[in-house]
Amino acid sequence: MKLPPNVSEADFTAALKGFAGIVGDQWVFAADEDLELYRDSYSILWGEADERTASAAVAPDNADQVVELVKVANRYRIPIYPISTGKNLGYGGAAPALAGSVVLDLKRMNRVVEIDERNGYVVVEPGVSYFDLYDYIQERGLKLWIDVPSPGWGSVLGNALDGGVGVTLAPYRNHFDAQCGIEVVLPNGRVMRTGMGALPGAKTWQQFKPGFGPRIDGLFKQSNYGVVTKMGFWLMPSPENHATGVVTVPKYRDIIPLVDGLGRLERSKIVQGLWTLSSPTTGMPGGGPGASGPAAGPPKQNDSRILAVLNDPDGVNMEKLEAAAMSAGVPFWACNLNLYGPKKLIEAQWECVRDALGEIAGARFTLNEIRRLPLPPEDLAKLHDLGPFGIPTLRTFDLGPMISYDGEDIVGHIFFSPVIPRTGEAAIEAMDVFAAIARKYKLPGPPLQPPSSIFERAFLFAIGLPVTRSPTVNAKIREIIRELVVISAERGWGEYRTAPALYELIMGVYSYNDHALREFLETIKDAVDPNGIMSPGRYAIRSRHLREAKD
Ligand SMILES: Cc1cc2nc3c(=O)[nH]c(=O)nc-3n(C[C@H](O)[C@H](O)[C@H](O)COP(=O)(O)OP(=O)(O)OC[C@H]3O[C@@H](n4cnc5c(N)ncnc54)[C@H](O)[C@@H]3O)c2cc1C
Repeated sequence: MKLPPNVSEADFTAALKGFAGIVGDQWVFAADEDLELYRDSYSILWGEADERTASAAVAPDNADQVVELVKVANRYRIPIYPISTGKNLGYGGAAPALAGSVVLDLKRMNRVVEIDERNGYVVVEPGVSYFDLYDYIQERGLKLWIDVPSPGWGSVLGNALDGGVGVTLAPYRNHFDAQCGIEVVLPNGRVMRTGMGALPGAKTWQQFKPGFGPRIDGLFKQSNYGVVTKMGFWLMPSPENHATGVVTVPKYRDIIPLVDGLGRLERSKIVQGLWTLSSPTTGMPGGGPGASGPAAGPPKQNDSRILAVLNDPDGVNMEKLEAAAMSAGVPFWACNLNLYGPKKLIEAQWECVRDALGEIAGARFTLNEIRRLPLPPEDLAKLHDLGPFGIPTLRTFDLGPMISYDGEDIVGHIFFSPVIPRTGEAAIEAMDVFAAIARKYKLPGPPLQPPSSIFERAFLFAIGLPVTRSPTVNAKIREIIRELVVISAERGWGEYRTAPALYELIMGVYSYNDHALREFLETIKDAVDPNGIMSPGRYAIRSRHLREAKD
C-alpha cells in the first residue's frame, strides 16, 4: 500500500474506511490498477522516484459528501487533491501535485445546476465536461454558445481553475475571466459562496462579479484553498453568422504594424474574434489554424527557393526567407480573423480591418463567405477545428503519429507556456530565442512558430516539448525547460500555467521583492488550511509543514 507522506498505515486505513463510510466502498480506490488511471500519462517524471502518484482516490457524488470527506482528511492529516475530469494533459493530467495524496475525483458531480438563456449564464458542477454542456444546450435548443479548449473532454470548471483558454470571442476565451460566482468547500469543511452568492437567496450571483467587499474569486485559480463544487460562467449568445477574413502582408517585419493595427481594433472592441498568425512560407493555408477551410491539412510548401531556406541546418534566416518568399510571390504573414454576428456587423468589422491595416504596403485582404450559423453538419465534418464554432471535439489528437526524440518514442508533451508582450517586436524576439533553443537541442516542431493571440492583451506561446518513457531523455527535457524558463525570465517573460513537476522552478522566477507574492500566498495557506491537507504544493504554494520539510 502506498501511503501519504507522514501518515501511518493505521491512520491511512482508518481514513479510507472513513471515506468509504461517506461515499460507499465502490467509490474508494486503492488498488494498483485503479490508481494507474490517476497517473499523468504525459508525466515528465514517469517511473522515477519523484513521479506524482496517488495513494488512493475517492469519488463523491455531491458537495455534502465533499464536506464530510474534508473533515476526515483533517482528522487524519491526509493530503487530498481535487480534480474535476482530470484531463489536464500537458499540465499534469489527473495526478496530484504531491506524491501520496488522495485524489478527490469529482467526475460524478456532473449536474448542470442552472442555465439562463435570457441572461446568458450557466452554473455547473465539476464533472460537467464541455461535451456534456454542449449536449445539454443543444437538447434544449438554447441559443447559447460555449467557449471550448481544443480537447472537449475536459471540465468547464476544472479547465477554468487551471487558467484554461478557448478560441471564440475575447470576453469568453480566458475561462477564469468568464466565471461569475464560486461555491467552494474550504479546507476546514465550511461551504462558502463568493460574490453575490454570499447573500442567501441571491438573485444576481451570476450577474455581478464584484460582489461586496474584496473580490476573492481569483484566489481559487491555480491555488489550493478549497474544493470548488459549483461555478457560474457567462455564455455568449449564439451568433447569427461567421466569416473568416484573411490579411496577408509581404515582409517579416510587417508583423509589427500588423499587431499594432489589430491591437487597436481589439482594444476598441471592434474585433473580438480570435485572430491567428501563420506564415504561408511554411505551407500553412492562408487561413492558418482555426480557419474554416477544408480539413485537407496544410498544403506543403513546394517552392524550392523557400524550401532551401527552411531546411537550412543552421536555422531559418528570416531575411533570406523573406527574400525567397518575395521572389516566389508568397506573403510572409497571413492573419486569419474570425468574425461573428449580424452580416452587416461582419461587413463593417471588415471595413475597419481594411482601414486599420491598409497602410501596410502590399497588404491583401480577403473576406471569405459570410455563412449563416449553425453550419450544416456536412460542412462541420470537413473542418479540423470546431472550436471557433463553440463545438467541443477531440480532433486535436488527430494530428498524425507522434515521432521520436533522441531515439525514444514520444508519448505526449509537456507545455512550456510563456506570456510575452503583444507587439511585433516582442514576437520577433521570442521567436528568435525559442527557435535557437529548438535548434540547439534538435527539438521537433515547425520551422516558424508564431505566438498565439488567445489572451486579449498579451501574446502566448504554448510550446509542447516531447515526453518519452526514458528517464534520461525526460531529464534532458526538464533541463531544456529550465533553460527556457530562465532565459524567458531574464527577458521579463513568465509562464501562465505549468505542470506540477515545474511548479517550483516557475514560481521561483516570480521572485519580485524576495518572493513577496509567494510569501503572501503561503500566509493565506497557513490561515485557511492549517493542517495542509488541500492540494499541497499546487502551484508551489506550500503549507507550513511542506516548507519546514524543505528548509
Ligand atoms: C493536445 C492538447 C491540446 C490542449 N489544448 C488546450 C486548450 O486549447 N486550452 C486549454 O485550456 N487547455 C488545453 N490543453 C490542456 C488540458 O487538456 C485542458 O486544459 C483540460 O481541459 C484540463 O483538464 P480538465 O478540464 O479535466 O481539468 P482537471 O484536470 O479536472 O483540473 C485541472 C486542475 O485544476 C484543479 N482542480 C480541478 N477541479 C478542481 C476543483 N473542483 N476544486 C479545486 N481544484 C480543482 C486541480 O489541481 C486539477 O489538477 C490541451 C492539452 C492537450 C494534450
